[in-house]
Amino acid sequence: MTSRGARAHALRTAIVEACRWLVAAGLVQGTSGNVSVRHRNRMLITPSGVPYDAMTPDDVVAVDLVGESPRVRARKGLAPSSEWRFHFDILRARPDVGAVVHTHSPYATAFAICRKELVAAHYMIAAAGGPTIRVADYATFGTQELSDAALAALEGRAACLLANHGVIATGPTLERALWLAQEVEVLARQTAIALQIGTPVILDDAEIARVVEKFKSYGPKR
Ligand code: 13P
Ligand code: ZN
Repeated sequence: MTSRGARAHALRTAIVEACRWLVAAGLVQGTSGNVSVRHRNRMLITPSGVPYDAMTPDDVVAVDLVGESPRVRARKGLAPSSEWRFHFDILRARPDVGAVVHTHSPYATAFAICRKELVAAHYMIAAAGGPTIRVADYATFGTQELSDAALAALEGRAACLLANHGVIATGPTLERALWLAQEVEVLARQTAIALQIGTPVILDDAEIARVVEKFKSYGPKR
């Protein structure tokens, strides 16, 4: 195997392991959610509708990141995730992003259902790049409209919510995107609990800007 082939195989394996971790962490279930990683001028992405416990590295689909109607290379003839458009558009528009993780994690999705953005109830919101995690306008899953809405909500951020749907978390590495997907869920959960206890005190933008700076050298590999 060439070193390029070995790297691609390692990434396919990492994607399958990431999916199993997402299930174990309670961030996805069944076939919900999807994961992609940039590899040279392609993305490697989970196949559509394959249960995570049955997924193997060969099921992962490669999609060219160049050209308007991207070429799909599937070893087992599986279709790429139905959400390949937003993975494709994010990886193309954001050279800083190396991995995209999409979940339907329960608390964050509950905020998305209520169309309530996440605010700076905890300093950890800075992990997503700013004082809010926005909610992208609703569009049917798997559409270009959803991708366009997601890209707008991700402006200046590493994560967003998708109205009545779920979460997108990105990162320079898969490890970082997984970390952020979990932090978004924890933040949503903490906020939901705090709202039942009283009125959350929201940190100001200057404090979040300080923490954003600190996060440049904190946490899993950037
Ligand atoms: P796929 O199985 O096609 O990736 O779809 C899951 C999903 O979460 C759609 O939004
Ligand atoms: Zn989804």
